[in-house]
Amino acid sequence: MRASQFLIATQKETPADAEVISHQLMLRAGLIRRLASGLYTWLPMPAVQPAELWQESGRWQQYGPELLRLKDRHQRDFCIGPTHEEVITDMVRKEVHSYKNLPMNFYQIQTKFRDEVRPRFGVMRSREFIMKDAYSFHLNQESLQQTYNAMHMAYTNIFTRLGLNFRAVRADSGSIGGDASQEFHVLAQSGEDDIAFSNSANSSFAANVETAEAMLPITERPAPSKSMEKVHTPDQKTIDSVCEFLGLAKNQSLKTLVVLGTADDEGYQPLVALVLRGDHSMNDIKAEKHPLIAEPLTMAPEQRIIDELGTKPGSIGPIGLTISVIADRAVTVMSDFTAGANDADYHHTNINWKRDCEYSDVADIRNVVAGDPSPCGHGEIEIKRGIEVGHIFQLGDKYSRAMNATVLNENGKPQFMQMGCYGIGITRVVAACIEQNFDDKGIMWPLALAPFEVALIPLNYDKSEAVRTATDSLYSELKAAGIDVIMDDRAMRPGVKFADAELIGLPHRVVIGDRGLESGTLEYRDRRAEANEDMPLEGALEFVKAKLGR
Ligand code: ATP
Ligand code: MG
Repeated sequence: MRASQFLIATQKETPADAEVISHQLMLRAGLIRRLASGLYTWLPMPAVQPAELWQESGRWQQYGPELLRLKDRHQRDFCIGPTHEEVITDMVRKEVHSYKNLPMNFYQIQTKFRDEVRPRFGVMRSREFIMKDAYSFHLNQESLQQTYNAMHMAYTNIFTRLGLNFRAVRADSGSIGGDASQEFHVLAQSGEDDIAFSNSANSSFAANVETAEAMLPITERPAPSKSMEKVHTPDQKTIDSVCEFLGLAKNQSLKTLVVLGTADDEGYQPLVALVLRGDHSMNDIKAEKHPLIAEPLTMAPEQRIIDELGTKPGSIGPIGLTISVIADRAVTVMSDFTAGANDADYHHTNINWKRDCEYSDVADIRNVVAGDPSPCGHGEIEIKRGIEVGHIFQLGDKYSRAMNATVLNENGKPQFMQMGCYGIGITRVVAACIEQNFDDKGIMWPLALAPFEVALIPLNYDKSEAVRTATDSLYSELKAAGIDVIMDDRAMRPGVKFADAELIGLPHRVVIGDRGLESGTLEYRDRRAEANEDMPLEGALEFVKAKLGR
């Protein structure tokens, strides 16, 4: 470690409130810092965090019910940290004062808590989980970019070493905030995220569907060819049922969603209509970024729709609407389309823009779908499922500004620090790895993640002297060579031991039995192989080392 890259935060004065020598020296040596009564940051940071810091950053209000809030015995507010930007920013603003100490990077492995609406898939989406996170501090954007690139490389190396099939993809920054961000996804059918790739060999484009841009169609809007009609569509409330009832393709229909708009000075939120092609789905993240739309995206209450638009949510369409209408890009090239008639149980067919109605704004508010042109300009979008195992962000000065974290720059002037943050979901990685590595017998760990590299399975260990001697000696030899080995000395049937080793997923298995020992051979099996191999008792260590690639 270079001291220049390590936070040495020693102090001369003995803090007044520290009575015992260990407390005094830990404070003076900079091992710990008090965050609140009985809460100390010593990297790792405390799991429980005082509300004041979250109020400072503004996230106490913004974060919503995923933030588990609690009160202590004195009725003071705390939360259990879902992430640690506030705590680290608070520490750095107190300990780092000069540009000369930058850049600096802090990492920890810490339990996080997020009160997820829908915890599922075991530890893949749990409420309490373990994260490796890191936060970097910089004088300027250029330095942040350098560290961000180094983190990108480190994450790529980590996931490669773990033997995962993964991709780095462009991402939205979510509630963490900031400008640039990339996620690392393990590709697996059970993934909760859709990842858009370009199918062109000339492109490495990959982005989370949350952010992948749906391009403006290059086709011209066909001229209207039919006159508009109002048709009776009794009890047809969904796009699917309306299209089926009228015998229309979904891409010839328009769906209208009404959401709350950005509040005005009095706090009044007007209704805003969003129109999308019937077969497209709205992208909430894109929609709520539109200046006219409230964030978080909120569907308009049914009663307001009835009161202000004079109809129910299932029958809305663009004709005669007096509120702002934001059209998805794809909608602007539609003609002769069908939409709700703002009259219960009626739709209009053969509607045409300009002739029959207008939109007030055009925006990209939908999810890309397979076959869309790739935003990189090469090929078409292809969609695969991914599990987000890591995420790197450039936060910029979002937190340093809100929390007034500055250093003195070369001119002796205070300057907000630039920040980056970087997370790996350690517990989720374990689950994601299994999603890619299993068979009907159980888990197949890549070497780097396996709890043990080698399973040594003696037959009749408790009865046969020869087996016991050979096993004990190989076990000692492997351990001495630094190989991570588990010897199954349980008094159980061989079948049970084999099944356990396979289910647990140990990559290499060596079986020691009387019959083989007579001819000086043991039995070896790779967890991923179909059959056993004989291996010599003499030179067993070298054989195993070769299999481990050592
Ligand atoms: P998600 O979109 O899956 O909810 P996130 O984007 O909110 O995750 P980040 O804030 O980027 O998560 O956290 C960094 C990493 O922590 C994620 O990449 C993921 O691997 C892990 N992680 C986040 N939430 C959970 C959870 N509920 N259970 C397990 N791991 C999680
Ligand atoms: Mg994320």
